Amino acid sequence: MTKRPIDIVKERLNTVPVNVEAILRALDVEVRKDAILGEDISGEIRRNGERYVISTSGDEHAFRQRFTLAHELGHFVLHKSLIGTGLDDSKMYRSTEAGDFYNTEIKLAHERQANSFAAKVLMPKHLLKKKIDELSQSESKPDVSELCNLFQVSYSAMKWRLVNLGWAQQVEGIN
Ligand SMILES: [Zn+2]
Repeated sequence: MTKRPIDIVKERLNTVPVNVEAILRALDVEVRKDAILGEDISGEIRRNGERYVISTSGDEHAFRQRFTLAHELGHFVLHKSLIGTGLDDSKMYRSTEAGDFYNTEIKLAHERQANSFAAKVLMPKHLLKKKIDELSQSESKPDVSELCNLFQVSYSAMKWRLVNLGWAQQVEGIN
C-alpha cells in the first residue's frame, strides 16, 4: 500500500529544525530555492509533466523561504487537485495576477489552510514543547529568539504559533 503524502510528512517531523527539503524530496517534489520570481511573488508551485516544482524567491531571507516551502507543501498535500498547471503566492500568500499564474481555484480559505499547515510542519507541537521544556531547565523562561533560531523561522511565524497554542506566556520576548 502506498503511503499517503500527509503520512510521509508526519513521519519526518522528528528533527529540529525540521528538514522541509527532505520531506519534499521524499514526495518527489523538486525544490528551487533562491529563484528569480516576479516582484511581488514569494513562491510558486508548478506542474512539470508528472512532477511538481516548488520555487522560492531569492529576494527573501532563508527563514522566510523555509516558510514559503512549507506553505507550498501545504498546497501540494491539501489542494493538489486545485493546482492545475500551477499557482503562485504573493508576499501576503495570496493567489494574485502577479506572477506567471493567476489560479482562481485557490481561495483565501485555502491560503489560511496552507499557512496553518506550514506552521505545524515547521514548529511541530511536540518538538516545540520539548525545546521549551529543555530551555526552561537552564533559565527561567526561554527567549523567543532562541526558539526562532532553533526552528529556523521568523519572529512573526514563531509568535503566531505560540499564541495559537496558548503558550505565549511560557517564553520571553513576545509583544
Ligand atoms: Zn498559497
